[in-house]
Amino acid sequence: MLKEVADSLPYTSGSLYHAAVHALDQGIAISPTSGFHHAKYHSGGAFCTFNGLTIAAQLLRSRQKVKRVGIVDFDCHYGNGTVDIIEHLGLKHIVHLTYGEQFHRFSGAEAWLGTLTRELQPFAQCGILIYQAGADPHRDDPLGGDLTTEQMLERDRIVFRFAKDRGIPIVWNLAGGYQQPFGNVLDLHENTLKVCLEVFRP
Ligand SMILES: [Zn+2]
Repeated sequence: MLKEVADSLPYTSGSLYHAAVHALDQGIAISPTSGFHHAKYHSGGAFCTFNGLTIAAQLLRSRQKVKRVGIVDFDCHYGNGTVDIIEHLGLKHIVHLTYGEQFHRFSGAEAWLGTLTRELQPFAQCGILIYQAGADPHRDDPLGGDLTTEQMLERDRIVFRFAKDRGIPIVWNLAGGYQQPFGNVLDLHENTLKVCLEVFRP
């Protein structure tokens, strides 16, 4: 273990967990973190060292803050690390959806968006949603590529409204985005923030 990696943990996994606790109190919170969903139980993967999504979910449960945690992972790629940890530990209290598997069951972005609220129904019983609002599903992303900017706004709007309408606390983070110039990625994250404000502070 590198000390630098250990020192970073309060700002990565720790940030997401504490933002989640804040969301339980305030309804909504943001953790400006990424690099979680490819990290497995035994190893890191791709740009991910530790799986802060499942760490937060486990802490929320073990500290008896919620019974059931939803992880809505809309980074473009398959959340293989999250799946690995859920299966390895038999975590029945986590409801998990990963765009990297789910999107491809639909005929395109409009079909996906049209059924998204229904696809989110298994999350209605969760005590909190962890929403990973990746920027790499954008069609201009070199490692992604399905959604227009407007469709990404709609994606975020559907997720935030789903949580708000049902009174489910939601915490969100950033995840992948690889466009150049990097300002394009920041613009997409800013769009998520704007939609968040639109829904939670109309
Ligand atoms: Zn990704």
